[in-house]
Amino acid sequence: MLQPEWSPVDLHLHTTASDGVLSPSELVALAVERGLVAIALTDHDSTGGIGEAIDAARGSGLEVIPSVEINTDVPAGEAHILGYYLDHADPFLQATLAHRRADRVARGYAIVEKLRGLGIDINWDRVQEIAGAEEGGAVGRPHVARALEEAGYVASVQEAFEKFIGRDGPAYVPYRKFAPEEAVALIRRAGGVPVLAHPTSLPDWEVRLPSLIEAGLLGLECYYGTYTPEVVQPLVDQAAAAGLVATGGSDFHGGEPTAWSTTVGGTPVPLEVLDELKAAAARAKQPSDAAPSP
Ligand code: AMP
Ligand code: ZN
Ligand code: FE
Ligand code: FE
Repeated sequence: MLQPEWSPVDLHLHTTASDGVLSPSELVALAVERGLVAIALTDHDSTGGIGEAIDAARGSGLEVIPSVEINTDVPAGEAHILGYYLDHADPFLQATLAHRRADRVARGYAIVEKLRGLGIDINWDRVQEIAGAEEGGAVGRPHVARALEEAGYVASVQEAFEKFIGRDGPAYVPYRKFAPEEAVALIRRAGGVPVLAHPTSLPDWEVRLPSLIEAGLLGLECYYGTYTPEVVQPLVDQAAAAGLVATGGSDFHGGEPTAWSTTVGGTPVPLEVLDELKAAAARAKQPSDAAPSP
């Protein structure tokens, strides 16, 4: 049964398939223990954890929604596009995600090289090991940050971002170009519901919104991490005005909550969101409503 302190749904969670700390089975166990009704594994550029999570949840009553989070860079910042109820076996989706993960490996290596230029020597093999790259784990800056912490260059992951690898940091390297509109179209092509993640992270998200909707966007993440009700309500209103589903989740990565993320079920998301998301998924899968191919 759902314990009163937890949200019934959490649509934004990371595992070891990307930069989360818990394995898909460990994450499912925690969600079951807290009595959640549905969770979405939204690993960065990877659906690699979904099979294990679905297996782990079998018989528990917990729904595992096949999902992903695709990171893209735009001039004003980062745009992350979430995709729900997608066909995660879709070959075109998998080929594109594999390409993105290969780009992540190259980018991770470039960051390590840039750090070396600054006199900071961390081992690239160790970064890949932390990321579980050999098992298909998506490499990310958090893995570089953990290697920096391990080597004693910083006291925390947060400090690594602040000093070196944050967007304005001296060892920052952007992603290879991939427009958020392309990510939206990719998710639609795989039968999924594309949602703009944590909109306030992108300073000009309202300017960008019409072009994302044009590309096939169907939702806006309104209940996110540590967003306060003062932030949530205007977003919910904007989603309604634009005909978008208001989704939400904790952005839990394992470990302690951060300045922006909470824990599994730690961000209140109304149960009705699940029905609205399912309805949007049914619409997204109708061929007549399909978005153009990327
Ligand atoms: P990447 O996908 O390699 O660009 O890394 C992005 C991830 O790094 C995000 O999903 C967060 O989990 C994490 N991250 C971003 N900014 C920070 C920060 N300031 N401190 C700690 N982690 C961060
Ligand atoms: Zn992450
Ligand atoms: Fe994100
Ligand atoms: Fe995330």
